[in-house]
Parts: sequence; structure tokens; C-alpha cells
Amino acid sequence: MYTSEFTYHKASSVSDALAQLASNPDAKLLAGGHSLIPTMKLRLASPSALIDVSSLPELRGIRTEGDTIIIGAMTTHRELEFSKVPLLSEVARLIGDPMVRNKGTIGGALAHADPSADYPAAILALNAKIKIQSSSGARVVTADEFFQGMFTTALAPGEMLVEIHVPASVKGAAYEKFAHPASRYAVAGVAVVVHSDGSLRAAVTGAGDHAMRLTKLESEGVSSACKGLVSASDLMGDHFASAEYRAHLVDVMASKALARAK
Ligand SMILES: Cc1cc2nc3c(=O)[nH]c(=O)nc-3n(C[C@H](O)[C@H](O)[C@H](O)COP(=O)(O)OP(=O)(O)OC[C@H]3O[C@@H](n4cnc5c(N)ncnc54)[C@H](O)[C@@H]3O)c2cc1C
Repeated sequence: MYTSEFTYHKASSVSDALAQLASNPDAKLLAGGHSLIPTMKLRLASPSALIDVSSLPELRGIRTEGDTIIIGAMTTHRELEFSKVPLLSEVARLIGDPMVRNKGTIGGALAHADPSADYPAAILALNAKIKIQSSSGARVVTADEFFQGMFTTALAPGEMLVEIHVPASVKGAAYEKFAHPASRYAVAGVAVVVHSDGSLRAAVTGAGDHAMRLTKLESEGVSSACKGLVSASDLMGDHFASAEYRAHLVDVMASKALARAK
């Protein structure tokens, strides 16, 4: 199916993109297009304008400042796959196929907040921070504040995700997913991180309506038996996997991730 008609603007800078966004509330930012374009073809979204930010140098690349790694929002899955960013390099390697990883970006994936996307679990477990910019300034939110529901984040109209901040080193980290055989999206994906101070954070994606922390595993710590971590009543069920099966998968994926992370 074809998209509805839209205008296309290739942004020359972040401030140009934000000015365009402020002047047209119906416009959408275009990153890798690997979620937005299919959504437009299905007519689930029909923005009147696309503002292309995918190749803005300001939004690309990975750098380290002190004990923090700063990832530009338009850094592709492939760039992350071949980086040394804790956990995210492992997660990026498991996304889709080479074409998706070459075009798709971490900023686009986080802003889209698909309930089965891989990064959100890792971002929560890493205790990452998200930098958001608008024409009136910038703000930084925690991963816990960022993911709010199915396809819903802390991004307000007129705002752009510009950077992701993650710890430069962790004691251990692992991501395990049971992937959908066609899309490779997570039916259940669990990220576990043992931070430098010894604290443990864990999160799951694919199982509920949005990524969420696995608080039972976190409180039990590295000796967790990974049994009954989530209740099926809090999870999604569909023709591919029931909520009860997803609850079982969460325990299995958590157990495998914990064994590698600790
Ligand atoms: C066949 C296929 C398989 C896939 N498999 C997986 C998988 O296994 N795991 C997985 O996690 N994902 C998977 N994906 C999704 C893929 O990772 C996408 O790249 C990602 O979800 C969206 O990133 P994008 O850069 O393509 O963003 P786009 O599609 O360009 O944008 C997505 C949304 O985010 C908004 N947006 C983009 N950038 C910003 C920004 N900087 N600030 C604010 N809003 C912004 C856009 O307006 C749009 O609403 C798959 C996709 C396909 C087509």
C-alpha cells in the first residue's frame, strides 16, 4: 500500500529540524524509516510532512565523557553492533536483519517505543539517561521516566531525542531474547546488568505493553532463582504466544541472562 501524500524536508541542523517541527505539529521526524515508513504504508500514521534528521552529523556517533558514553540519536544499529558500548552492542547485533541494522537508529527505535523492541530493556537495565531537545531548550530524563506505555514515551510534541547516555563500564551485562522467527522482534527479551557498585538492574521487553523493570529479580540479586518473575496477568497474549507462555519465557530468558551477567 502507498503512503498518503507528504512533504519532505532534509534538515540542515538540529535547530532547523526543531524549527520545522515547531511550525508544523503534524510533521514527523524521519530517522532510519524502518518503523515509520511501514506504519505510513499501513495508513496507521499519515503525517503531512517528514523532517529527515537521519544524516545530521550532530546526531551521529559515539563518544566517551568521563564515566559516560554518549550516543547520538541517529547512530545506527550497525554502528552500535560494532562498538564497545556495554550491552547495546550485543543487543544491536540481534535486531532484525542486516538491512534493518544498516538503516535503523537507536533514537528512532527508542522514540517509537514498540513494545517488542530490543533496546528498551537494555536501556532500563543500564539505567541510561535520554537527552531531549526542543526549540525552547533541553532536558534529560531517566530511562524509567522515558518509557510510559505502548508506543508512548516522555517525548512531548515538538521535542526530539538527541542523545542516549550510558555508563562507560559495568561489571557484567547480558541480553537474552526469544525472537519471533519472522521479524526477529522479541517475544520476550530480558536484559540484566550488574553495575560497578554491585547493584543489579534487570528489565524485560516484548512481554508486556511496554518494557518494564524486573523488580523481583533485582531484589533477589545475583542468587535469584528466576522463578515467577512476572505474573501472566500483567503480560500480553496473542496468536503467537499466550501471556502464560510469555511469563514462562521471561523466567527462562532471565535465568540465561543472569548466568552470563554475574
Ligand atoms: C523487518 C524489520 C525487522 C525488525 N526487527 C526488529 C528487531 O528484531 N528488534 C527491534 O528492536 N526492532 C526491529 N525493527 C525495528 C527497527 O529497529 C527500526 O529501525 C526502529 O524501530 C526504528 O528506528 P528508525 O531509525 O528506523 O526510526 P523511524 O522509523 O524513522 O522512526 C520511528 C519513529 O520515531 C520518531 N523519531 C525518529 N527519530 C526521532 C528522534 N530523534 N526524536 C524523536 N522522535 C523520533 C519518528 O517520527 C517515528 O515516529 C525491525 C524493523 C523491520 C522493518
